[in-house]
Amino acid sequence: MNNYKHYLQSDHWKKFRKFYFARKKPKGCQFCRFRDPLQLHHITYERLGHERLEDVVAICDSCHEEVHDLHNSGKSKNLRAATESVRLKYKLKKKPKPKSPLIRTSKGKARKRAYNEASDKRMQMDDDFVNAVLRNL
Ligand SMILES: [Zn+2]
Ligand SMILES: [Zn+2]
Repeated sequence: MNNYKHYLQSDHWKKFRKFYFARKKPKGCQFCRFRDPLQLHHITYERLGHERLEDVVAICDSCHEEVHDLHNSGKSKNLRAATESVRLKYKLKKKPKPKSPLIRTSKGKARKRAYNEASDKRMQMDDDFVNAVLRNL
């Protein structure tokens, strides 16, 4: 989507981004709570150029990719549905990642994988402890 890439360079979008982060002050990925450089994902492109705050969500690189992978796979009805199902997955604390045929190598993903594995271990020991850790992220 070339226009979209263009759009992300626009002054409007940069302003909106600033506004969003100033307003919402996300303290980590809105899905998995992982602290990572956050990206603003469009839940819908319907109002591109005049977004509302609820049209986007700040998520980490890994969750972002997951949403678009799901969307591109055609298994979800639309982008909003794909976004919702990834959001729900983390909300219900299911297994954090679907197995992927790709070996994820980027730094953020490696960090997140380590984090998830550590959480899994802790989860077996003590749910409350993990919840406390997640709250403090
Ligand atoms: Zn996106
Ligand atoms: Zn995330």
